[in-house]
Amino acid sequence: MKTKHVLRYFCDHCGRGHSKKPLCLEHEKSCALNPDRVCKVCDTITNHIMPLMIEDVIDGDMEKLKALSDCPSCIMAAIKLARKRSGDEVLRFLPDWNYKHELRRYHRKGMSAEEIEF
Ligand SMILES: [Zn+2]
Ligand SMILES: [Zn+2]
Repeated sequence: MKTKHVLRYFCDHCGRGHSKKPLCLEHEKSCALNPDRVCKVCDTITNHIMPLMIEDVIDGDMEKLKALSDCPSCIMAAIKLARKRSGDEVLRFLPDWNYKHELRRYHRKGMSAEEIEF
């Protein structure tokens, strides 16, 4: 039998573990719980709008939320932070919101019909 000690890298913000350092650094940069998060989907620094987005999630105001950011990854971060603050109750306002579905829609926007793969 062989035993091996391996290093694991953990996100400073959410504690998620990674086997590779670059992956962990990459994750930390856009981690939902990072106050200085840079979104990997829309490439935006969200610290100025995130507190407002969290309020909108807690209020269940999807229209206002989407007016602040149409990016599914940013909305997902706001949902995670709102959950952390107010618990699972915030999810009852979001029954139809699906991250994967929204991400597909987001990427389709601005693409021509030929580029869209089904
Ligand atoms: Zn994290
Ligand atoms: Zn984003």
